[in-house]
Amino acid sequence: MKFADLHLHTHFSDGTFSPEELAGHGQRLGFAAMALTDHDSVEGCARMADACGAAGIELITGTELTAEHSDIELHLLGYFVDTQNEKLLADLARFQTVRQDRIREMAARLKGLNVPLEAETVFALANCKSPGRPHVARALVKAGLCKSLDEAFERYLKKNRPAWVPKAKMSALEGIELIHQAGGLAVMAHPGLNRTDDVILALVEAGLDGIECFHTKHSTAMSGRYLELAGKFHLLVTGGSDCHGFSKGKPLIGTVKLPYEHVEKLKQAAAARHSSLVTGH
Ligand SMILES: [Zn+2]
Ligand SMILES: [Zn+2]
Repeated sequence: MKFADLHLHTHFSDGTFSPEELAGHGQRLGFAAMALTDHDSVEGCARMADACGAAGIELITGTELTAEHSDIELHLLGYFVDTQNEKLLADLARFQTVRQDRIREMAARLKGLNVPLEAETVFALANCKSPGRPHVARALVKAGLCKSLDEAFERYLKKNRPAWVPKAKMSALEGIELIHQAGGLAVMAHPGLNRTDDVILALVEAGLDGIECFHTKHSTAMSGRYLELAGKFHLLVTGGSDCHGFSKGKPLIGTVKLPYEHVEKLKQAAAARHSSLVTGH
């Protein structure tokens, strides 16, 4: 049987693996297909395509966007997006600037708490255009200002903690439209983590294509419930480990093995989206 992992991060966002390392793990675990879904970035896709090609693994290009609907934060996975699409690249560049400004604001708040961490130190450690809170946490530990990543989040970085800064987010409807105009499929990531059940219907009406039923942090019961919803709303089914390398403890790749039949359906839907973009229907 063939399997896929459709939710993976590299050091082009807050993962620790390079595309080559990630493809190597995929090969070791025998995955037939993988999708790269770095936060607000498609920069790693070209290298990942080469690395997967060499490893005999099919790569699906992707990204993970942060959005909101009715004050609920949610993540949207965009699969098969054209990584050269002008509007997508322009918007991702804008989201990356928002991320960098947010890190500066967090550093300023930390300074106000007598925790001397420079934003530049975080940027140097992150070494990517999509820095996020995990990078701040790693920088705090590296500088000896916190003992662990958990402590960094608990004391300073978690929502409503003193160095937390709210993140400006686009609306989910804009996110879906952005993915669609780039030829991609919009999939709601880990609905079980964001308590997004109440907004699924509104997003389906806005053109949501799929739902991530299988995720490392979904219980079997949760996955079952989302499979049911996917059936009810005729949504594609996806799944992935959300592996960040060593960023959040042990690498998660291998914990979710999506049967390949779902990849086939995703490919058919992407081909249909592509031909409708070309013909305008
Ligand atoms: Zn996510
Ligand atoms: Zn993710």
